[in-house]
Amino acid sequence: MTVIIAGGGIAGLSLALSLHQIGVPCRVYEQVRALKPLGVGINVQPHAVRELFELGLADEMEAVGVRTREVAYYSKRGNLIWSEPRGMFAGYSWPQYSTHRGKLQMMLFDAVLKRLGPDSIVTEAAVTGFRETPGGVEVSLANGATAQGTMLVAADGIHSAVRRQLYPNEGAPRWGGAVLWRGTTVAKPYLTGATMAMAGHEWQKFVTYPISQPDPQTGEALINWIGELKYEPGAGWNREDWNRKGDFADFLPSFEYWRFPWLDCPALMKAGGECYEYPMVDRDPLERWTFGRVTLAGDAAHPMYPIGSNGASQAIMDARFIARAILDHGLTGDALMAYEAERRPATTRIILANRGNGPDQVMQTVEERCAGAFGDISEVLSREELEQTAAGYKKIAGFDVGTLNARPPLVPAGARVAV
Ligand SMILES: Cc1cc2nc3c(=O)[nH]c(=O)nc-3n(C[C@H](O)[C@H](O)[C@H](O)COP(=O)(O)OP(=O)(O)OC[C@H]3O[C@@H](n4cnc5c(N)ncnc54)[C@H](O)[C@@H]3O)c2cc1C
Repeated sequence: MTVIIAGGGIAGLSLALSLHQIGVPCRVYEQVRALKPLGVGINVQPHAVRELFELGLADEMEAVGVRTREVAYYSKRGNLIWSEPRGMFAGYSWPQYSTHRGKLQMMLFDAVLKRLGPDSIVTEAAVTGFRETPGGVEVSLANGATAQGTMLVAADGIHSAVRRQLYPNEGAPRWGGAVLWRGTTVAKPYLTGATMAMAGHEWQKFVTYPISQPDPQTGEALINWIGELKYEPGAGWNREDWNRKGDFADFLPSFEYWRFPWLDCPALMKAGGECYEYPMVDRDPLERWTFGRVTLAGDAAHPMYPIGSNGASQAIMDARFIARAILDHGLTGDALMAYEAERRPATTRIILANRGNGPDQVMQTVEERCAGAFGDISEVLSREELEQTAAGYKKIAGFDVGTLNARPPLVPAGARVAV
């Protein structure tokens, strides 16, 4: 009756906790020998925070995250285009958190160990493929072993081995021309102290937000930052690897004059000392995720550009919808089909919206209309245009405030599957 989960990232661990909540046994097979807190900043939007809270992880989330107070968009000259409150400051019943991806993953990992026990995660166990059996699914592992289960959820990330088996001709992820240099710096928080700030436009962008509470002694916090440059298609870049070290010489000179009254961007980046380089990639939306008792989740199903801060949130939502579907349909292929029917169209819309810059499109419009120079933003963009862009993206990404606050829980407290 065990559900096999390939991958112990945000999607896989959230799914393990969700299945445990409804009384379904599962086991996670993770390729690395030991999970380490890798990555830099990431955001968890209120719809996904709600799910973590309903998993009983409110205190744990509070301990690893910063409640994002506002999001603010600036032109490349540092002029304010648009700002809006976030999370509970915007009327949601749940906060938005800015956090460190590795801390979020380790928080989920610790909760899995505590609730499901150490046998629930098998490490050094890269899934290489699967085959259907009369009673379910058998997965093969790189070490030559096999594992049997009732169903398989592939949450093995953007280079998913299971997706590759299902779509052998798909090839590498699709690069849209942008490269991100990501890092963190211990520094004094700027603006509200918990602002996610973005400056620039489609071809050159700077993003920053604090991901730790300020130190009571020094007032300094860990500040996440991203310098982003876009190249002409065909320029070519290194293959995506979350842990590839970057070179400041490749991007810092382009930001030399981005010294704003509210933040000295190049100084912040330089003070970080090291950075990671990542080409902005996604994959084309698939027409099908579920094949019998096998389905895809998280980045394995719908890798998207990191625009609009949605990758981790959507991975958590997948986990919750799978649990919901199993509650409704039992441990069956129908449950996986029901999950896909909800989630595939929803995430396809986000992949496509992110290719069109998502909510960041306001910065590109300002660049095109006035090269970022204006006195008052109303000279360049009407309030309606600004509001429509922000509200439209929230609807697409599933975190419209009214809808989210009003809907009942996806996984009702105490609901269990008879297995
Ligand atoms: C090391 C790392 C660092 C990251 N850093 C950032 C960041 O700084 N900012 C950001 O926005 N996003 C980052 N991401 C991506 C982000 O976590 C995801 O976009 C999002 O959270 C969706 O999560 P996921 O669980 O679907 O995928 P992931 O978080 O990528 O998790 C996939 C998991 O599956 C494991 N895995 C892969 N292949 C196999 C296999 N064949 N068998 C078994 N296990 C396998 C991986 O080791 C990983 O633990 C990072 C991902 C990784 C793996």
